[in-house]
Parts: sequence; structure tokens; C-alpha cells
Amino acid sequence: MDWETIHKDTAPAVEPRLTDYEEARSAFTWARAREALAGLPDGGLNIAHEAVDRHAASDRAGKAALRCVGRDDAVTDVTYAELARRTARFANALRTLGVGRGDRVFTLLGRCPELYTAVLGTLKCGGVLCPFFSAFGPDPVEQRLRLGDARVLVTTAALYRKKVAARRDALPGLEHVLIVGPGAGELPGTASFEELVSAAVDTFTIPPTSPGDMALLHFTSGTTGTPKGAVHVHEAVVAHHATAAYALDLRPGDVYWCTADPGWVTGMSYGVIAPLTHGATVVVDEGDYDARRWYRILGRQRVSVWYTAPTALRMLMRATPRQGPYDLPRSQDLSALRFIASVGEPLNPEAVVWGRDVLGLPVHDNWWQTETGCIMIANYAACDIRPGSMGRPLPGVEATVLRTGVDGRARVTDGRVTPVEGAGEEGELALRPGWPSMFRGYLHDEQRYAAAFAGGWYLTGDLVRRGADGWYWFVGRADDVIKSAGHLIGPFEVESALMEHPAVAEAGVIGRPDAVAGNVVKAFVSLRPGVEPSAGLRRELLGFARRRLGPAVAPREMEFDQNLPRTRSGKVMRRLLRARELGLPTGDLSTLEGSA
Ligand code: ATP
Ligand code: MG
Repeated sequence: MDWETIHKDTAPAVEPRLTDYEEARSAFTWARAREALAGLPDGGLNIAHEAVDRHAASDRAGKAALRCVGRDDAVTDVTYAELARRTARFANALRTLGVGRGDRVFTLLGRCPELYTAVLGTLKCGGVLCPFFSAFGPDPVEQRLRLGDARVLVTTAALYRKKVAARRDALPGLEHVLIVGPGAGELPGTASFEELVSAAVDTFTIPPTSPGDMALLHFTSGTTGTPKGAVHVHEAVVAHHATAAYALDLRPGDVYWCTADPGWVTGMSYGVIAPLTHGATVVVDEGDYDARRWYRILGRQRVSVWYTAPTALRMLMRATPRQGPYDLPRSQDLSALRFIASVGEPLNPEAVVWGRDVLGLPVHDNWWQTETGCIMIANYAACDIRPGSMGRPLPGVEATVLRTGVDGRARVTDGRVTPVEGAGEEGELALRPGWPSMFRGYLHDEQRYAAAFAGGWYLTGDLVRRGADGWYWFVGRADDVIKSAGHLIGPFEVESALMEHPAVAEAGVIGRPDAVAGNVVKAFVSLRPGVEPSAGLRRELLGFARRRLGPAVAPREMEFDQNLPRTRSGKVMRRLLRARELGLPTGDLSTLEGSA
């Protein structure tokens, strides 16, 4: 697609840390990145120490670590010193329960201050934290509690009643259920989180923790199938810290806000850990997803860096079109905001241009996975942006593009893989293992883990192109890519083209098997408010896409669908669109939004 580079015309409020890409990469080593952290007195490394205790012991102790914005917009700050005390109490409470090194503590909570206490308290005492997305239904909750060997669950009375109580007998390993808020007394087999925490002592010495100790268990989004539990260790914090400096430009004075639910890897790595290691103030939004509310929080809290997802940006775009009267952002003072970063699915170039034109802000896409544990490829905070590009590998990250076979995955011959030759050639994105937040296994699934590596590379399952200048362009997930009349078509490119039409809010594109072409491209389109579907509009959109993409790539068929299926983390679920279209089994739907 022919998008210009967006030069960083909005002057950064502070000196950029990184201006020369190559210089930063060549100066960087992970060992040096490790030196930016404090480490435990005995030389070990513990995430909670880097995120809380070391600030609590410094002149940052009285500074707000959390800024909780309630549903009613009431604001409550929790200082680093207070967070250190709360997490110490929870670590002591867990110790009293006999929970310690390697034990799994699950959280099933919305965004609330207790979540931060539970996460960081667990890490302090050497336990392994596994966060759930609070909207999960009883089946996925039970499945993951069992798969993850849960010993402790921290949740609310309402969530416990709805999602766990009836399954408790089937989970003998789940010894302790701690209830946040009222209601513990009425629920057999539970205890009150607050009572336990307030009865505990508020100082705690973190036990020796080695960098390779298991710290976090993250289930992937399940976009393509059964959820996998990715294992991460304490030294991941080195990568969280370093990448947040490069990709998110985090600084100690920042008010930082990440909209991702803490149940997903983004909400944990960059919603809890990374900003606290930088001594920033983290906005904890306890309200619902709503464009007006978002603008209000960005303005009133003077947020300086906002980390969000394409789906959220598309919501803002719908609420604030490029043309016409738009009072939403104008009604708020967004002058503290340096930039917006986006992750989770491809960021349509349209959204980047919208950000520049409507908000006057750069929008930086970045790419990573549950497995990688940290941002890998990014449009750097201090550099120009290529709308539609994922960006370039961060310092410490070695990436390549591998030739693929008929299955769309890297072709492996005698254990060897071959990089593509020319710039612009599509292939599977692969990464050289060795960065600190690299996943150390899929829990209880060694085979699947082993299958993720070949020829000394980790195979990501995503198809990309790399330009001669080293920028990466997302093509699609290997299992989403459409082969039509000898072409490989990435659904994202087609969806992005459709979204440039003013009538289109969102699109999901699949391949429908066809005797002649192998597959034909079919688009499912949701329309902007006020636009009515019609045969005429369908013809217009098909013609529009053909002019943009050419007849080989443009969709041949189109359906209007105001409720495109999406994962709870906001990604369009193409595999479900395809399964419905072809009458195939729909597979694991535990992460489908609205399925609870
Ligand atoms: P599963 O592995 O269970 O199918 P998932 O891959 O969706 O689920 P995550 O680890 O949450 O689970 O998501 C990582 C994937 O999201 C990436 O592999 C990629 O396909 C997609 N993704 C993330 N960021 C971007 C981005 N900036 N551009 C394009 N795709 C992205
Ligand atoms: Mg994946």
C-alpha cells in the first residue's frame, strides 16, 4: 500500500532517547540492560522487587504508583510505599497458607487495586501468577485452573459464584479461594482477602529468587485454537524494562495508561510490571470501555503515554470521524500525551493517519506475542512512523523472514530453514531465541514447545514481508493467509483497504474454497453508525476494493455483519468466520467475546 512515512512532526515534549536506530542496536546488550535494574541483595532477580520495593526504598516512595479511576471518576492514589506494604502483607498471608516457591496463584478480577497487590505479592513470595480475563465463562476458567495446577484463586464473590463454585469439587488442587470485597462469609470454602491481608505483617524480605525461576503463566488469546499456557520467568523483567524504554519511551515522571486487560500478556507485562519498574504512575481504570470515558481520562489524568489496541482506536475513530463535527478530543486537554502505542493485531494505516489528523498524535504500532513476553518489533517512540508497518526489531532482537512451504509455515529440511532472498518476499517471521522474556515452555506440552523451534530460530506462526530498508510488514497469521489463483493474500491488507471507505467500520476477510481459484476472497463488513446495508453499497465497496487492491487480491464476495466475532482481547476471529461460512466445527470458543 502506498502510504507515506509520517515524520515525527509533533515535537516530543522531552528529549528523545533514541534517534539513531543502528547506533542504539549496536550499543545494546541484554547484560547491559540487566544493569539498569537493582537486583536482590543476594544477586538474584525478582520482578516485584524491581517494580515496587526498590522504589519504596528510594525518594520515589511517596509518589503515586497507582492512580485508580473508579466508575464514578473518583480518583484514589496508591503510593509506592503503600503498594510495598500491601504486597508485603499479601506475601506474608500466602506464606501463612503454606504457599511459596513455584505455587500457582490465579487472579480472576477486573481492573482494581487488589489485583496489583495479588500479582506483586505472589511474585514477592516466589509464587507463580496466572491472570484470568474476568469475562471468561465457567468452562474456560475450569479448564485453565486445571491445566495451570491452581492452588490459590483470588476473585470476587460474584465471579466465584458465577464461574467457579459449581466446579469446585472437580478441582481438588484448588486449596484456597480468596474473596476480594464483601461476601466471603457466605461462601463455603473461601476466605476474605482483606481479612487475610490486614492480619498480616507489612514487611517482607523477598526470598532468594533466581532469574530463571518461573514467575508468570500466560494463556494465549486462543485466536487460532486451544489455549496454550506460556511459562515466563523472573528475568523477563529485564526485557519488560528495556523494551518499555525503547518502544514506549517510559520515564519516571510519566502518567501511563495501558487499556489491555491484566488477564492478557500486554496487561501484565506493560500494564503492571514495566511501568512500575520505571517508577511511572499507572492509571487503573475501573470503568467500562467507552470512547467518551477514554478521552476524559486521557485529559483529566494528564496521561503522557497511552498503550492500547487497534480495536480501541477503531472505537475512537467511530466516535470521532475525520470529517465533520468532532468535539470529543477537543473537549479534553490532551497536551500531556506524547504518543499512542498499539498492539495485538494489525494496526490499519487509516488509524495512524487518523491519529495524526484528528488527535495530532503519532500512533506507533508494535508487534509481539504471549510467547515472546515483550515487544519485539516496533515503530520506535522517537522515530518516524510507517503507517501499516509493524516497525523494526528492537535492540537485542534478531529477526528474520523464512521461506515457507505449502502449509504456509517455514519450510524445514533436515532441521534447517532458509531465509527469503529478496526484500519484500513473504515468509514466516522467526526470532533468534535468547532474550530474557522468551517463554520457557508451554505448560504440560513439551512437544508443542519443541515444534515452535527450527534451525536455531523460534517460529512465530506469523507471515511478514521485510522491505529493503529493514521495516517489517504484517501479512497475516500463517493459518489465516488466503491462497487464491496463485497469489498469497493477507486478510489484513484487504481489511485495511475496505476500512478506508467512509461507510466501513470494520472488516474480517477469509478465503472460501473455490474449484477454479483455489480460494476466493470473501469479506464480512460492519458499517458505521447511520449507514444502511444495501446491494448498491455492496457493489460500491467491492468496486472500491478492486480499485485499491487490483482484481487478484480484492474480495469477490461480501456480506454485511454488524457483529463480527472477536476474541475478548479484541481480535477479529477469522477462523470462526471461516468455520461458519463452510459449516465446519467452530472449535474452541472459550475466548470468543460474549460467550461467557
Ligand atoms: P493463539 O496463539 O492462542 O492462537 P494469539 O496468537 O492471538 O492466540 P497472542 O499471543 O495474544 O495470542 O497474540 C499474538 C499474535 O497477535 C501475534 O502472533 C500476531 O498474530 C498478532 N499481533 C500482535 N501484535 C500485532 C501487530 N502489531 N500487528 C499484527 N499482528 C499482531
Ligand atoms: Mg499465537
